[in-house]
Amino acid sequence: MSIVVVIDSADGTIKKGSREAVSYATQMGGDVIALALGDAPENELASLGKNGASKVITVAGEFHSIQEAATAVAEVMNNVGADTLVLAQSAKASAIGGRVAVKQGASMASNVVALPDTANGFSVKTSIFSGKAFANVSLSKEKKILVVSKNVVDIKEDGGDAVVEAGSVNIPDADKNITVTGQEKASGDVLLTDADIVVSAGRGLKGPENWGMIEDLAKALGAATGCSKPVSDMDWRPHSEHVGQTGIKVAPTLYIAIGISGAIQHLAGVNSSKHIVVINTDEEALFFKAADYGIVGDAFEIIPQLTEAIKAL
Ligand SMILES: Cc1cc2nc3c(=O)[nH]c(=O)nc-3n(C[C@H](O)[C@H](O)[C@H](O)COP(=O)(O)OP(=O)(O)OC[C@H]3O[C@@H](n4cnc5c(N)ncnc54)[C@H](O)[C@@H]3O)c2cc1C
Repeated sequence: MSIVVVIDSADGTIKKGSREAVSYATQMGGDVIALALGDAPENELASLGKNGASKVITVAGEFHSIQEAATAVAEVMNNVGADTLVLAQSAKASAIGGRVAVKQGASMASNVVALPDTANGFSVKTSIFSGKAFANVSLSKEKKILVVSKNVVDIKEDGGDAVVEAGSVNIPDADKNITVTGQEKASGDVLLTDADIVVSAGRGLKGPENWGMIEDLAKALGAATGCSKPVSDMDWRPHSEHVGQTGIKVAPTLYIAIGISGAIQHLAGVNSSKHIVVINTDEEALFFKAADYGIVGDAFEIIPQLTEAIKAL
């Protein structure tokens, strides 16, 4: 089996989800080739060898449209004779995967939450209905595309450096159909979708003037800040921080929910988190049922003490 894994990077750093995707592919067995579209530092790309990639192919350029990226990925798969493609879950990854599936005549599954079961054919467990249920999906075509959720496997760290090679692809002009005229970065020091730790708060915080303590805690932890929907609807926080079914879906190693009740629509955006800590005055709050650790108490007393304790560490 030859597996291509599409790599995503930001500001010269490979995203954690991509390292997980390479580690996932490595556990499937076979030769794992990482594919980086666009620029990233060579030493950063070579370090994908630690996660299990034998080789990294870089294709220079800017891949703004999904069509361009899909054409490049399909061409590289053909060039290296790959029968499997793995991508880290994101809206963009699902869109690329779908188009590559058409080009390659491949079977595809997204929101994959476990390694494939190959005892009888090839099937994968996937998360459906915003994480409220699971489906086992059988992939019958010879070529397969898996879009893998975050936190499914631990990142493998014990390999050596991978060989980095420049690849080239022919993108038809028809696929180059997007021109980026400007870019605006989301606020916050750490991007919510990539954060390893998220400190999120809800209506229990009473008003926007009380977010200083949330930002202090996030800063002490190197975390991104998130919020519940009503908080962003009331303009206490920007919409880019709204977490949940109708907002951003996050999958950090640690999600700290402060003064958030735990409505199902909020949980739909956080239930792939590895560990959840809930702080709420109401011991009956729904969120405690999804929590690994809970503190029943007043956020206004707990958060400043927690921040000081973390700073002391
Ligand atoms: C179609 C639809 C889509 C939706 N999508 C989303 C979504 O994507 N994301 C989302 O978040 N919501 C979404 N909602 C809204 C969701 O149903 C809830 O209404 C919302 O999540 C509640 O936000 P909250 O927990 O901040 O507020 P509340 O429900 O008001 O809860 C506040 C919590 O704070 C606690 N609290 C109060 N004071 C303190 C204190 N001093 N210290 C600690 N805790 C305290 C309370 O006990 C309570 O549990 C959606 C709703 C619908 C109908």
